[in-house]
Amino acid sequence: MSARIIDGAAIAQQLRAEVAARVPAFTQRAGRPPGLGIVLAGERPDSQIYVRNKLKLAGEAGIRAELSALPATASLEQVLSIVRTLNADPAVDAILVQSPLPDPLGPAAMQIVFDTVDPAKDVDGVTPVNVGHLVQNRAALVACTPAGIIELLERSQIPIAGAHAVVIGRSEIVGKPVSLLLLHRHATVTICHSRTRDLATIASTADILVAALGRPGFVRRSFVKPGATVVDVGINRVTDPAVAREMLGEGSRFEGFHKRGSVVVGDVHPEVSDVAGAITPVPGGVGPMTIALVLANTLKAAESRQSSVDSRQS
Ligand code: NAP
Repeated sequence: MSARIIDGAAIAQQLRAEVAARVPAFTQRAGRPPGLGIVLAGERPDSQIYVRNKLKLAGEAGIRAELSALPATASLEQVLSIVRTLNADPAVDAILVQSPLPDPLGPAAMQIVFDTVDPAKDVDGVTPVNVGHLVQNRAALVACTPAGIIELLERSQIPIAGAHAVVIGRSEIVGKPVSLLLLHRHATVTICHSRTRDLATIASTADILVAALGRPGFVRRSFVKPGATVVDVGINRVTDPAVAREMLGEGSRFEGFHKRGSVVVGDVHPEVSDVAGAITPVPGGVGPMTIALVLANTLKAAESRQSSVDSRQS
């Protein structure tokens, strides 16, 4: 058996088109396009690529996206100052601070930045207010990657209610919020992490297995129940030829690795395709959905803020 490939690129394109179709009505009503402010500190090549993609696709959808870039030597106060400026700017509806922040800012920096974002403009659902709303199943703005995973499952007609979902990873931006979203859709959810015993055994009871741990090819055939849906969230840049060969085999993708010196792979080993019923590829699975959800959440935040303006004026 070979798993059905869930085409995240195609589903994301469809979602972006739906957003783009709604933007003109907002722009006419508000007298300006929806506004997205992106903050990038540092020069990580992968972050620069993500940000460039977000700027390009936002522009194509009619969203005005603006980048505030800081050097890797920026202080936390400089990052916070930009966030406060974006909070106060009436033409900015959504704020996205690209993670990770530069290492010298320390492990607590990201949370301090999240705590500073105006919850009404919190495009990635990371502020304590929006996380609280998510726990209570009344969230307006939900973290983009988890929300993108749910869109992928629902638009691919994968049943969630009553399913056993196993999520590997408990991070604030992926593991925890996707677990809550699955729970709110009536899945029975098991969350696994680095201290979980017998992980493969637990994973192999899942109808839906979400791998979000950041370990190339960690999920093997033995982790997967025949016919299960496997969502591969991992984005791992591999430079070790042995790991690349293990993930890519000897075919044309491995030749591409030799030319470029690196390759992006997921957390799920390719052999899983032999047992899974459906699987999201890397690249072209969850990644494009994350960007589509940034655009969808920007429009949602814009519409919600404009409704507040309209009701104050009436
Ligand atoms: P993270 O913050 O590093 O969290 C990783 C989680 O995996 C932690 O909860 C950790 O457990 C768990 N884990 C690590 N090694 C494990 C192991 N050997 N066995 C079981 N659990 C293990 O990572 P993240 O930000 O959630 O990202 C996860 C992956 O998704 C990364 O590859 C990242 O690049 C990718 N990602 C992709 C997108 C996208 O758009 N596709 C978006 C965000 C992230 P502990 O809590 O016990 O340490």
